[in-house]
Amino acid sequence: MAKLSLQDLNVKDKKVLMRVDFNVPQDENQHITDDTRIKETLPSIQYILNQGGKLILMSHLGRPKGKKNLKYSLAPIAKNLSELLGKKVQFCGDCIGDEVKNAVDHLKSGECLLLENLRFYEAEEKPEKDPFFAKQLSAFGDVFVDDAFGNAHRHHSSNVEVPKYFRNSSAAGFLMEKEIAFLGKELSHPKRPFYAIIGGAKVSDKLGVIKALLKKVDAIFIGGAMAYTFLKAKGFSIGSSLCEDDLLEIATFILEESKLQNIPIILPIDHLVSSNLKGESDVFTCSVQEGIKPGFYGVDIGPKTIELFSAELLPAKTVFWNGPLGIFEVSRFSEGTKAIASLVANLDAMTIVGGGDSVAALESLNLKDKISHVSTGGGASLEYIEYGTLPGIEVLTDK
Ligand code: AMP
Repeated sequence: MAKLSLQDLNVKDKKVLMRVDFNVPQDENQHITDDTRIKETLPSIQYILNQGGKLILMSHLGRPKGKKNLKYSLAPIAKNLSELLGKKVQFCGDCIGDEVKNAVDHLKSGECLLLENLRFYEAEEKPEKDPFFAKQLSAFGDVFVDDAFGNAHRHHSSNVEVPKYFRNSSAAGFLMEKEIAFLGKELSHPKRPFYAIIGGAKVSDKLGVIKALLKKVDAIFIGGAMAYTFLKAKGFSIGSSLCEDDLLEIATFILEESKLQNIPIILPIDHLVSSNLKGESDVFTCSVQEGIKPGFYGVDIGPKTIELFSAELLPAKTVFWNGPLGIFEVSRFSEGTKAIASLVANLDAMTIVGGGDSVAALESLNLKDKISHVSTGGGASLEYIEYGTLPGIEVLTDK
């Protein structure tokens, strides 16, 4: 069911309460190291301000675990947003209470106010702890907009409980709509062949999406630590590589399912191996048949796998990629991820990439602009593909 859009709302002179995802990476001095997520919400923010709305922004940042901790303050974000907008963004040192009420009451049309980190309250992540938290937030708006796609897979107060107070006026922001258009519409009627590349560490997080992808794609390429659970399930020696032993049975089931459905799961055929995960000892390559000895770790896909993946991915017309193919943070172990990033960027295909590390790989090679859609939500994009919707989208007003 299509959801109400920001464009459908009359925001002029209205208090517009908007959930955004300003959970940006920062260095130890709280300097923002990548403001992509803030920039991606500018179309919604500028639209509301240009229409004469009174904009109240709320977000989380990091994991303060329900307690006020100024290390996770959104104050530096207000400054960054002011610079991007070229106009002052007011900041309030709390997200509920009299101080906020006062600031909201004094907000004029075309002005913008950013509230302090929602996660300074335990009830943000655990709505059941205090339903009054969502009610207090909801009192600051006449209408509600959710532009926080990166948070939409979570069942939190600000994105699932607050919209319930705006039965007829909970709308999707422009970023949210863009994400739904690519991950929903484009991937449900993809040009073929449609391939998925899944890397990263946690099979448990990605099993659901792999199962769902088997019904949509023409082949799945698996790399990263994920691959070792599947290789071990097939009987190969993986040494001390990261592996989720309790998932071996399910991995075997998925491999059988892929055979039955005739959708190949393509695993690495060689590894880059090291005895040290920080890149402080020698590295060498070995084939999957030779196997990895105990005390050694598979840290990246090997050169033959890069060749194989590159050749097989070449005819792709649609590609979805999530997760690094090795320990990308260590530069000696980043070649596989970089090779795949460069290949995906240069394909003549609709390309959709999600997940921090995959996006960082593209950025490090200056290739982000060559991707059709870079999702702002890693986990959210996976769950959207798995379930076809997300809690934060479901709850918005139907059109
Ligand atoms: P995820 O959040 O599931 O996408 O996982 C990302 C993490 O996977 C990154 O921190 C990588 O360092 C890690 N990773 C990728 N390949 C490997 C590997 N072969 N061994 C250990 N960790 C890996």
